[in-house]
Amino acid sequence: MAPRYNPKWDYETRMVIAGERQPPQPGSPTSTPLYSSTTYFHENLAEFDAALAGRGFAYGRNGNPTNTALELAVTAAESGVGALTTASGMSAIYTAILTVAHLLKRPTRTIVAPRDMYGATTILLRDFVAHYGTIIVTCDMTNRDELTQTIHTHQPDIVYIEQFSNPLLRVVDVAYIAACAQKVGARTIIDNTIATPIVQQPLTIGADFVCHSATKYFSGHGDSTGGVVVVADEAFMPALRHINATLGMVLGPYEALQILRGLKTMPLRVIRQCENAMQIAQWLSAHQSVATVHYPGLRCHQDAETAQRTLSGRFGAMVSFELAHPTGLRNFVDSLQLVLPASTLGDIYTMVSIPATASHRGLTPEERRARGISDSLIRLSVGIENVDDIIADLDSGLHQSKP
Ligand SMILES: *Cc1c(COP(=O)(O)O)cnc(C)c1O
Repeated sequence: MAPRYNPKWDYETRMVIAGERQPPQPGSPTSTPLYSSTTYFHENLAEFDAALAGRGFAYGRNGNPTNTALELAVTAAESGVGALTTASGMSAIYTAILTVAHLLKRPTRTIVAPRDMYGATTILLRDFVAHYGTIIVTCDMTNRDELTQTIHTHQPDIVYIEQFSNPLLRVVDVAYIAACAQKVGARTIIDNTIATPIVQQPLTIGADFVCHSATKYFSGHGDSTGGVVVVADEAFMPALRHINATLGMVLGPYEALQILRGLKTMPLRVIRQCENAMQIAQWLSAHQSVATVHYPGLRCHQDAETAQRTLSGRFGAMVSFELAHPTGLRNFVDSLQLVLPASTLGDIYTMVSIPATASHRGLTPEERRARGISDSLIRLSVGIENVDDIIADLDSGLHQSKP
């Protein structure tokens, strides 16, 4: 029987079935079963030996068939050649960093990273990776001159990228950064969580590793914590697996199943979320109770040119804005009925958070100001609801924000 999978099928088609129905057998289930077993038995010593050598399943920390199905699916999602599932987005990022050191057979000397990184990643690099002797150099990756100069001067082992930045949704030219990294022999790792593969697929434009918090758009329903690393080169896979299995940062099979289920509707959801976000951003920019809007799809965004030139024509589902009357912040948030005050992103529900007291709470007011994050900046993660209902809810909130 031929495999019921054709790489020529359209992206949306492949995402519905990627990872499923493998291997095809008469009477196979249409959806992947949950393999809760930690242990696999073997018919004879040769099979036992093969499983322990990585050709088959032996023990839960080394692999699980449900996780393998998700790994095939995320490989297809990011147009990579292999993937690893991990316990969370943070362990995906850490595993990718450790993999580069493993390939070099020495500690990484220098990592160049964005100045406005995701909070937990800033902590990972500053309070952990740096303590093992790696120098962390940050720069503004939207500034070509500063980026080129920093990479040239510091000759890093890793160039670490995020698309988009949180919460101002700055856009970087991934192909350009990856080319700069390649010139000095550095590996590129990109956190593509906020952009999603619907907006860009970094492995197709020169990145080596793509990391995701699968907790966000891949799961999409706010009910599973997980992470994935997808790679552009199969040679990275043994080290990735070895590190994750040794440190035990493994994704549970139940979460793998939930995320695999989420991934089937990821294109549908994210395309709708991007469309909703575009409409909401346009509507907010025309509203008299709104002072500024940050959305990469708007012509007024500071990286609009990069976004138009390098992205897929979709600009993500996060929107940030400032009220014309910042003192009305509490009234705005407290009067919302549909939009949920919550600190995550990427779910099917539209959520609102205040970065100064949520994602960027750990920074000092001066650090926040230096990054352009005021105490009254509002961040939306736009969901799949009918956009008119979201806009009506925001409108009544904005009305309440007036003095
Ligand atoms: C949530 C998030 C992470 C961390 O992922 P976890 O699954 O919470 O560990 C990393 N990067 C970005 C951009 C995120 O939004």
